[in-house]
Amino acid sequence: MSTYFKNYPNNEGFFGPYGGMYVPDNLKIEMRKIAEAYHRISKSHDFISELRQIRKHFQGRPTPVYYCHNLSEKLGGRIYLKREDLNHSGAHKLNHCMGEVMLAKYMGKKKVIAETGAGQHGVAMATAAAYFGLPCDIYMGEVDVAKQHPNVLRMQILGANVIPVSAGQKTLKEAVDAAFEAYLRDPESTMYCIGSVVGPHPFPMIVRDFQKVVGEEARAQFLDMTGELPDAVCACVGGGSNAIGLFCGFLDDPEVSLYGVEPLGRGKQPGEHAASMTFGKPGILHGFNSYTLQNADGSPMPVHSVASGLDYQSVGPEHAWLRDQGRVAYVTADDREAIDAFFALSRHEGIIPAIESSHAVAYAIRYAQKHPHGSILVNLSGRGDKDIDYVAEHFGTGSTASAR
Ligand SMILES: *Cc1c(COP(=O)(O)O)cnc(C)c1O
Repeated sequence: MSTYFKNYPNNEGFFGPYGGMYVPDNLKIEMRKIAEAYHRISKSHDFISELRQIRKHFQGRPTPVYYCHNLSEKLGGRIYLKREDLNHSGAHKLNHCMGEVMLAKYMGKKKVIAETGAGQHGVAMATAAAYFGLPCDIYMGEVDVAKQHPNVLRMQILGANVIPVSAGQKTLKEAVDAAFEAYLRDPESTMYCIGSVVGPHPFPMIVRDFQKVVGEEARAQFLDMTGELPDAVCACVGGGSNAIGLFCGFLDDPEVSLYGVEPLGRGKQPGEHAASMTFGKPGILHGFNSYTLQNADGSPMPVHSVASGLDYQSVGPEHAWLRDQGRVAYVTADDREAIDAFFALSRHEGIIPAIESSHAVAYAIRYAQKHPHGSILVNLSGRGDKDIDYVAEHFGTGSTASAR
């Protein structure tokens, strides 16, 4: 594994043909500076020991691995969860946000900048910025500001400055553009922090490295609990940060099958899903090359998923590479299956999962039914408190779960 992480990405940020730095020259210069600083700082004793302290005392790591005894008994195969829902702030995102903001601090930056769509990345960034005492500007489309009111309040309570963006469709794409513009106005004293293993090099590498802790912990915990490795490991894939974090722990174990679960939304037609790897083609979007869902003219295709954290037209370049290598298989779960899994885990285990994570749980349920002697470890990337109003309004409070 040490050779894998040494070789991927290469110095130019490529995983095979994927990844890279497809950005204007002025931005390329800044990305190279961040890459250089990251390589230097992240290996220093001070950085490593401070991050270790933060993970333990602020985030509450290691998060547990939990055996779903009720669900497993019912289905046949054994299902285990890596409980990232118990990570501080309720999801895996804080793992990379704490790392990114700490890097900004070590680089002497005076402010951090990010965009957010549904608000989850914004809340994790606001949390990390409060911890490190750095001002934080979060760009958010006006449509999303109105839709995601509780997350706007969370960010503001944590002290972040939420900046509504009124250009174009007033959603995530415009927010990304506005955040990059703001960053380029003052790259010396500000730092842009991305929300997943996407964007130009070095972000897919940096975010992966900070999420790796999930897989490293989980492998040791699973071995300790059961005396063996899981037969399979699965995680939902939006940009791919929670999935790559867990997969990293098992890349060197060929006997462990890895599954990335993409959102099939309402169906297979363009616009009905956000399954970039299942239906997309290689192409460049947001500064990197990967599988993307694009129209014939190269513009991003509309996407849909019941999980707002999964509806993205591309996917982290490392996933594209791991798929082409045959190391990870990418499968899908649709809206309905995700909602059924949301209720199944709530009713049978007393754990309300994020709708994003419910896609991975849905696949694990399918796997456990098919493999009565098998075991599968799921990354439960986040808790579902944020989703209860939406679920209750659109799907009620659980009659389908009892029918299953
Ligand atoms: C944002 C989010 C995701 C999707 O992001 P990835 O980068 O694909 O992991 C998944 N689960 C939860 C709980 C999230 O908040």
